[in-house]
Amino acid sequence: MTQHPGTDPPSFTTTIKNIVDNNLFLKDTFCFPRGGGQPGDTGIISNSKVKRDFLETLPGEQISHPLSTAEGFSIGDTVDCQIDQIRRNKNTTMHTVQHIVSALANDLFHAETVGNQISEEYTRIDLLFPDRDKFIASDLEQSVNDVINSQKEVRIHNWDREKILSHEQMRHTKFMDRIPASITELRVVEISDIDLCPCGGTHVDNTSKLNHMNITNVKSKGSGKLRLSYNLNNR
Ligand SMILES: [Zn+2]
Repeated sequence: MTQHPGTDPPSFTTTIKNIVDNNLFLKDTFCFPRGGGQPGDTGIISNSKVKRDFLETLPGEQISHPLSTAEGFSIGDTVDCQIDQIRRNKNTTMHTVQHIVSALANDLFHAETVGNQISEEYTRIDLLFPDRDKFIASDLEQSVNDVINSQKEVRIHNWDREKILSHEQMRHTKFMDRIPASITELRVVEISDIDLCPCGGTHVDNTSKLNHMNITNVKSKGSGKLRLSYNLNNR
């Protein structure tokens, strides 16, 4: 994922390595598999005989590309894979905005993001506050949109665990114990002056490419917790 763009992913050619039930496993893939609250890519895959839609790509030891039927495909086939760019671009935009919302909710209200679910149309984030009565949705919304307006660069790094864990500005490192020790380098996403955290999702390269967000709903999710829902305007 390091060299692949977060938006407008180009099509790619590869070979089928394995087929299990109706799931294709490819020698190489640039599809984002569902994870971290971000939905997986969908698209179209074809060989010289058939062309079929693939459903949401899923994580595992190898990335799985599920089909409604794998009929017409065989192991070893050369295939062309087109990722649905509209869906990817919407998810990438939503996901990058989620970084900013989580970072500013932490900076302004000391809230910790404890869950999130992204979709093309709206996103929800669960936040745990030391004092949720102090939360002002319009202040968060305004601050997030100010960052979007301020054309912050979004950079991707590959850093080793030690550098990540010892960095003073690093956020969201708790989940790192769940990643096998054999993985020594992790991808870190930096939104200039705003956020720095390990993340495997897809991102725009500048906040100027994001749409303004509107908080559409805030509801209680139990002690100290609020669930924010938001959508994005077209600019
Ligand atoms: Zn991310």
